[in-house]
Amino acid sequence: MTKRVYNFSAGPATLPLDVLKKAKEEFLNYDNTGMSIVEASHRGKAYDVVHKDASKLVRELLKLPDNYHVLYLQGGASLQFAMVPMNLLGEGKSADYVITGDWSKKAYKEAKLFGDVKIVASSEEEKFSRIPKQEELKLNSNAKYVHITSNNTIFGTQFDKFPSAGSVPIVADMSSDMMWRFFDVKPFGLIYAGAQKNLGPAGVTLVIIRDDLLKSCNPALTTMLKYSTHAEKDSLFNTPPCFSIYILRYVMQWIKDMGGLDVMEKHNREKAGMIYSTIEESDGFYKSTVSKDSRSMMNITYRLPSEDLEKSFIEEAAKEELVGLKGHRSVGGIRASVYNAMPKEGCEKLSEFMRKFAKKHS
Ligand SMILES: *Cc1c(COP(=O)(O)O)cnc(C)c1O
Repeated sequence: MTKRVYNFSAGPATLPLDVLKKAKEEFLNYDNTGMSIVEASHRGKAYDVVHKDASKLVRELLKLPDNYHVLYLQGGASLQFAMVPMNLLGEGKSADYVITGDWSKKAYKEAKLFGDVKIVASSEEEKFSRIPKQEELKLNSNAKYVHITSNNTIFGTQFDKFPSAGSVPIVADMSSDMMWRFFDVKPFGLIYAGAQKNLGPAGVTLVIIRDDLLKSCNPALTTMLKYSTHAEKDSLFNTPPCFSIYILRYVMQWIKDMGGLDVMEKHNREKAGMIYSTIEESDGFYKSTVSKDSRSMMNITYRLPSEDLEKSFIEEAAKEELVGLKGHRSVGGIRASVYNAMPKEGCEKLSEFMRKFAKKHS
């Protein structure tokens, strides 16, 4: 047996073992082509099936209506911070941004270069420990879009219910919670997600864009930075990140085989629930850093009574093959990322370790 640890890293993150096994099995000879998929032409038949199938599965899982396009871009979610306003803003246009963490701040910073951008709510004064409520959002009805970060990977908060913005389309960075559950895409004009948290390996960014937004994009941009270039060529204008898309396709198939997104959500709530209960039942030894109604089901952040204890927690956990638990360098503490591919057994083992550690050190 190959050594496998429980990897709680925030990203790149753990992937379904069945997907990795499948990729290994067919790595040298993909579908009897006599070559690896990483050696296959992106214009060839073998890759074409992979490419189309990936999109078919994305559409199927999210029940995407026909007026949405599925794109595979490069440059990570970070390039989308700029591509969104570049394409959608310009002279006389404005956008609303909800600031819930470092990623939304970065998105806002880029957007300011391209138009009139307003912060309509921010939880920064409360150290991003919660998601602003609907009634706190000072939304502008003439905005081109309202931008949110659906899950805050660093701070461990997540929108449980998405804001309603009337007829203004929502643009969402779903990098760390895309496909964790089913949701209605209709209020969304554009969704983007770097793959390396919940969808596959680094290198591809999944973008879903609604037709009306696509048509309203700034035509005076360089070719590669226009959404329309990639939409018109089904993301084959230039060489796409073939291998990342190939893995993404198998991850989508794995979700489907698990029973789809509703089943996925049930699993995820159960898994995260286990760790949140362990925190609550620890008599204050573990302290959640977020308010209860804003808890993320993907990234669970908490503190221990001292930084020294946090250090030994991480060290001792690693000895039990529980790795990647160090909080983001900007906030410290502990972060357990429990994306779709983290098995329930990993969460059970972590909870058990947490109880044992607390008992020993309280
Ligand atoms: C990781 C992450 C990003 C950055 O993604 P890159 O692909 O590294 O650019 C942006 N937003 C969120 C919510 C993330 O979790």
